[in-house]
Amino acid sequence: MKELTILHLYPHEMNLYGDHGNVLTLKRRCEWRGIKANIVAYEPGDKLPKNIDIIFGGGGQDSGQSVIQDSLHQLAPTLKSLVSAGTPALVICGLYQLFGKFFKTFDGETIPGIGILNVETIGGAERLIGNIVCESEEFGEIVGYENHSGQTFLSKGVQPLARVVRGAGNNGQDGFEGARLNNLIGSYLHGPILPKNPRLADFLISKALENKYGDGALEPLSDAAENLAHQSSASRPR
Ligand code: GLN
Repeated sequence: MKELTILHLYPHEMNLYGDHGNVLTLKRRCEWRGIKANIVAYEPGDKLPKNIDIIFGGGGQDSGQSVIQDSLHQLAPTLKSLVSAGTPALVICGLYQLFGKFFKTFDGETIPGIGILNVETIGGAERLIGNIVCESEEFGEIVGYENHSGQTFLSKGVQPLARVVRGAGNNGQDGFEGARLNNLIGSYLHGPILPKNPRLADFLISKALENKYGDGALEPLSDAAENLAHQSSASRPR
């Protein structure tokens, strides 16, 4: 039986607006295809598992980001080499910000990031809150919910995940949402993002299988409920 290990970073502090649903989605979509999925929750002080096939990290309050920063910096070399080697990863909101260079909060604290993504985040006076719809060449329409004070700016040459159709995305100004690097996806979308955007979930699973077994082919699933959830989210007002 094929088997994948999903590293879930800091579920205690970094888990907002349903983010935990992302690991459940990965697990179920693996199981429906006869693939075993082990979810390993990682909290500060824990030991990392030996083999990591998918990395996931969710969002958190500024205070939570502050709490996990030292631990995240200890993991940075390992996370960097995994991402450079093509390990699929999804980081949402608070951890998206900290996979970047820094998050300067509206209160003036600078939380240094681990710089895997060449992006910078500055806290604004107004929170960017609401349902969001965006469009990605790679993944099609992506829908979700955002709630952040941080405004993230991509350095030149960094590829966004998508273009915003409705909502704020990275900063409410340049029309970009999220970032892409190798098989890493950074995004502001909670809700959670994966159940209603199953293509993203399958991208992560397929890349993990390709890396581990040399074949990323996935049996198609019906996705009827997932598509309904997608449409329902897409039709919500901001
Ligand atoms: N604390 C960060 C911000 O407000 C991240 C929020 C989140 O993860 N939803 O920008």
